[in-house]
Amino acid sequence: MILFKKTAELIEYLTIQRKKGLKTGFVPTMGALHNGHISLIDDSKKQNDLTICSIFVNPTQFNDPADFKKYPKTIENDVYLLEKEGCDIIFLPPVEEIYPPGTSTIHYELGVLETVLEGKFRPGHFQGVCQVVHRLLDIVKPDKLYLGQKDYQQCMVIRKLIALTNTPTQPIICATQREASGLAMSSRNMRLSDNERKTATAIYETLQAIQKDIQPGNLQKLKEKAALTLTAKGFTVDYVEIADATTLELIDNWNGSTPLVTLAAAFLNNVRLIDNIIL
Ligand code: AMP
Repeated sequence: MILFKKTAELIEYLTIQRKKGLKTGFVPTMGALHNGHISLIDDSKKQNDLTICSIFVNPTQFNDPADFKKYPKTIENDVYLLEKEGCDIIFLPPVEEIYPPGTSTIHYELGVLETVLEGKFRPGHFQGVCQVVHRLLDIVKPDKLYLGQKDYQQCMVIRKLIALTNTPTQPIICATQREASGLAMSSRNMRLSDNERKTATAIYETLQAIQKDIQPGNLQKLKEKAALTLTAKGFTVDYVEIADATTLELIDNWNGSTPLVTLAAAFLNNVRLIDNIIL
């Protein structure tokens, strides 16, 4: 595994590999790696000649500076896991390599994706995500980009970014990896106590209950019941919603045929957790 910290050196190396005809798969992460991330590395390894993983905790996507400060960092273990998994290249840029002095910001037209769900509760978050992913795609120029369904709305945002910027990269969405308990794996789970981890499984259970109980017609009561269940277990709920799986427009009345996704975001003792199920 080769480790790069300098953008120019990575670009030079990858240009040579591309000229040899090698296909590249890219897994951007913020580190504190777990089996969810590793599953993306595995998929990329199966489908490409070279797999590149970046670890960069992007300051511009944190709407809450305290959340940025508290974001877990386990870099030595991350490098160990990537080496063990056979990742070819790790990119560990300092902030100034991603945002050199004088970097200008552009506004990405994300439409409804920016105002619903995560967009509503984390203002500016997806502009920050677009900024960093646009920059990373410009540097790495991968054939394929590996993303986790766990961040459903982020996958849609990045697909839109790729379309908006005419980037010749194919996004690949990979299934959410879960603990045996059903809890979606997340770097933020490290900040939960053993008891909180047990409680946290209620998010997935609540989404599964929606999946089981959903019927065409008004969905208001189903959503309210789900949010109340989480509140009763000690969560502070941002949302439990049901949306059109292709546009993410919220659905209050279901015609029985529109494909749906149910999504939730809730805090458990200051740790914000998200999950979703395609219905
Ligand atoms: P992050 O480090 O949280 O920015 O995540 C980096 C990538 O890993 C994103 O594409 C995430 O959607 C993906 N990811 C995070 N958790 C999981 C999971 N439990 N299963 C699958 N992919 C995941």
